[in-house]
Amino acid sequence: MHQQGVTLWFTGLSGAGKTTLCQAVAEVLRSQGYQLEVLDGDTVRQNLCKDLGFSKADRDENIRRIGWLSQLLTRNGTIVLVSAISPYREIRNEVRQSIGQFIEIYVNTPLEVCESRDVKGLYQKARAGILKGFTGIDDPYEPPLNPDVECQTHLESISHCVVKILNKLNDFLPLQSPIPHNARIGN
Ligand code: ADP
Repeated sequence: MHQQGVTLWFTGLSGAGKTTLCQAVAEVLRSQGYQLEVLDGDTVRQNLCKDLGFSKADRDENIRRIGWLSQLLTRNGTIVLVSAISPYREIRNEVRQSIGQFIEIYVNTPLEVCESRDVKGLYQKARAGILKGFTGIDDPYEPPLNPDVECQTHLESISHCVVKILNKLNDFLPLQSPIPHNARIGN
């Protein structure tokens, strides 16, 4: 059976929960035997986008490259899970158009919550002025106007978010196994 490809695109502030949800969804899909690839923004910036900084032009180029790679993988039947802040709406929409089979997941966690988590200590550095142009502090984040899935991680558990995402994925790509409702995933 030829698997149909699709890109799940997680967007949101740093510390919103993109990587966490991406990994949790990947874990469920992997356990069901699906062919998938995870493109994590931080990892991509160490490789494919090593030459890019954080200006608007560079951020757009970063997303364009991730989008192009996702497009190739998607059309070859892979489920692609992208976790990237991707702060600009226009380039997200451009990528959506080029990929076609695309699910936009808005990991909508308030700035205060992301900042209190401060997973990588970056908010502290941004507030101290050590890090300039940090999304949400002194650089914009344009929220999706019509996301396919919205996760409010300050209100919803990881497993609840995962079920919502898998339900949406099921519309694109009928899953072989039932979606785990009380997931053995995270909290
Ligand atoms: P990002 O990839 O968006 O920068 P991370 O996934 O690295 O964010 O960090 C998010 C943090 O929030 C993790 O420590 C995670 O355990 C925590 N968290 C708490 N509740 C949730 C939830 N419902 N969904 C996702 N992450 C959550």
